[in-house]
Amino acid sequence: MEIFRGQNLLQFSDRFKTDQDCKSYLSEIKWSNGYCCRKCSHTKCQIRKDFSRTCNRCSDTESPGANTLFHKVKFGLRKAFFICFEMSTTTKSLSASYLSVRYGIREQTARMFMHKVREAMKSSENHAMNGQVHVDEFVVGGHEQGKPGRSYHSKKKKAVGALQLTDKGKVKRFYILKTKDFSAKSLRPIFEKHLSKDAKITTDQWKGYRPIAKDYSITQIPSKKGLNFPALHTMIHQVKSWIRTVYSWVSEKHIERYFNEFCYRVNRSQSKETIFNNLIKRMVKNDNIYHRQIICG
Ligand SMILES: [Zn+2]
Repeated sequence: MEIFRGQNLLQFSDRFKTDQDCKSYLSEIKWSNGYCCRKCSHTKCQIRKDFSRTCNRCSDTESPGANTLFHKVKFGLRKAFFICFEMSTTTKSLSASYLSVRYGIREQTARMFMHKVREAMKSSENHAMNGQVHVDEFVVGGHEQGKPGRSYHSKKKKAVGALQLTDKGKVKRFYILKTKDFSAKSLRPIFEKHLSKDAKITTDQWKGYRPIAKDYSITQIPSKKGLNFPALHTMIHQVKSWIRTVYSWVSEKHIERYFNEFCYRVNRSQSKETIFNNLIKRMVKNDNIYHRQIICG
């Protein structure tokens, strides 16, 4: 199968004219390494008209979307593919209400599906950053009257960002994690999930990084209001204004999903040709997340 490349909407709508076209695409990705029955592990099957596979031994039939993030998508695969295309290729902000109008689906339905897409956008945490890495903590969230940004009772969400620089000081990779506070214990996970022990890390002079410097190569310099961390501060500024424009209120439990979405696009801005295919592969690889987990998780 030829993968879909590029960001051209007309080419996209020509390639995916029907739900059937999408099922075909999913089935190629799902069974790219051959068929193996989910019930009995038999490897021979019949391919049905809707691209489902029926096991030759136990007759179990599996659809291309089963046990993927496309499982039982209510509004049809074609719309789901279009939403994936928009969310992976956009440089702007997409809200659930915008997608609900564009695709004629309920806003709540759009919101649920977008969370599934964000789940697929989550980092695998398999590729630790090395080289020059800047780390800084920040707050994000709506306006609150009478409460300064860093006040203890502020409802602003706290987060920490880590950015790997190119040789020219530009953005190579970027990750964000939400944190409960800015203690060493809360800051440590971003190091453990995303940074190699060989990375040459620079932070500001916040004391929370000092205990972590025992295990990582950290240099602490004055922030000068971000001037010493220009690339990182540009990204932090972008993520804050992105969240402020689309999501005037983002709940604590979902904010990490928005960070995933933002970083996924930043980290693939050099591979836009294949970003849609990459996202679909991730949607297929991820097990279906039930609504309950999205609401409670
Ligand atoms: Zn079987």
